[in-house]
Amino acid sequence: MGRRILFIGPPGVGKGTQAKRLVDALGVPHVASGDMLREAVANDTELGREAVRYMEAGELVPDKLVIAMIERRLRKQDAYCGYVLDGFPRNVRQAEALTETLGDDAIDTVLVLEVTEEEIVERLLKRAAIEGRSDDDEPTIRHRLEIFRTETEPLIDYYTDKVQRVDGVGTIDQVFCRVVSGMIC
Ligand code: AMP
Repeated sequence: MGRRILFIGPPGVGKGTQAKRLVDALGVPHVASGDMLREAVANDTELGREAVRYMEAGELVPDKLVIAMIERRLRKQDAYCGYVLDGFPRNVRQAEALTETLGDDAIDTVLVLEVTEEEIVERLLKRAAIEGRSDDDEPTIRHRLEIFRTETEPLIDYYTDKVQRVDGVGTIDQVFCRVVSGMIC
């Protein structure tokens, strides 16, 4: 069973939660580009200062910055036996960069989490109320969804042979059960 997993799904689909559970099950690192960028912003690093305005507007941070950040992370020793990528690659250019550096087997399985758009908006508004994230107001949410459709969904074709679709509606346990079945197929 391959341990180089990529999660794809719109913001708010529960990707982060499922990725964390899979990370615990497989014992590989969780490489979450959004978390890494938020940490860079919180630590006021050069990367954080460059990235923050894109993040607040719900835009993608420029490829060059994100690709460099992830490639540095994947070169660390703990990623040698696998990883769960969450949020990267976010578009075909980033996927091509990853293939160029790590080869075709940079990713074994692509798990695509699916839920309806209305369900997502509802979940994200709830998350905004709980976590206070500045990119979770309704117009920004809709914009991030639009970017997902135009920029990120084409990855499903890019990785077509590796894709397993997972129904993301249900409890965390139900969805995780489907995630694990997707891995075994
Ligand atoms: P996330 O937590 O994955 O929803 O990411 C939050 C924000 O970080 C996104 O709306 C983007 O502004 C930025 N971001 C995260 N991952 C990437 C990426 N791979 N490429 C460009 N921007 C990203």
